[in-house]
Amino acid sequence: MQISLAHQVALVTGASSGLGAASARALAAAGASVVINYNSQAAPAKALADEINASGGKAVALGADVSKEADVERLFAQILDAFGYLDILVANSGLQRDAAVVDMTLEQWNTVIGVNLTGQFLCARSALKIFNRQGVREGVSCAAGKIIHMSSVHQLIPWAGHVNYATSKGGVEMLMRSLAQEVSEQKVRVNGIAPGAIRTAINRDVTQGAAEKQLLKLIPYGRVGDPEDVANAVVWLASDASDYVVGSTLFIDGGMSLYPEFRGNG
Ligand code: NAD
Repeated sequence: MQISLAHQVALVTGASSGLGAASARALAAAGASVVINYNSQAAPAKALADEINASGGKAVALGADVSKEADVERLFAQILDAFGYLDILVANSGLQRDAAVVDMTLEQWNTVIGVNLTGQFLCARSALKIFNRQGVREGVSCAAGKIIHMSSVHQLIPWAGHVNYATSKGGVEMLMRSLAQEVSEQKVRVNGIAPGAIRTAINRDVTQGAAEKQLLKLIPYGRVGDPEDVANAVVWLASDASDYVVGSTLFIDGGMSLYPEFRGNG
């Protein structure tokens, strides 16, 4: 199987670090022109764009807070100015603001829902408007557009101390599936990725030292994931190699969602 995303334009939100940066790199390596969205970290986003451009790819770094409607609309207008098309959206931006429910402030709740869920809605809505106008670009892709929602195993596994985060990802699953149901007949493919524990800034405190040992008890496959584990799946879901995959969530978690605590007893 050979994957080429040549002549396609991909937006990856929250691509200045972690899974977003790895996805942008992998999409560019597959031939896509890439928009690297960042919120506050302009320098690493621009450095990544420079790296991709220097290695023969095409990339631009564009700032926008995905939880703000005006920012998102400006971002998508800038993408059309820069490239003229959009074919792939990886709605990846996300954050955590952890607290026990009794201590959780409304600001912590709203910030997580605003970025992780509303941000994905706003970006998907803007992308869909473009996909609908464009239609299927013959010779470029079988679909008029592809949307990949970055969810989490916590769309399935409840997470005490993180109810805002788990709620946002549960919402992402229903956003993704309802959207897929709504727009498939317009030849737009919408899917999700649910990573388990992947080594990035978001979980640095639990993927090192003694905490990592504890974490590995929850991962039957016996290792923490690397950003490339997710980025490879992003490329596949963005490509025609997955053309019949619609409304699915791909769990990339080393088996974390198999409830490994039940091994040997039950
Ligand atoms: P990360 O912190 O490196 O990346 C998150 C990115 O989102 C950052 O680049 C950040 O700047 C961006 N972001 C935050 N607020 C934003 C806003 N308002 N507007 C635009 N961008 C914003 O962590 P990561 O692990 O790469 O996370 C990427 C996604 O993967 C998130 O949605 C996260 O929930 C999900 N995820 C990660 C893991 C994991 O183990 N790393 C597991 C499950 C799900």
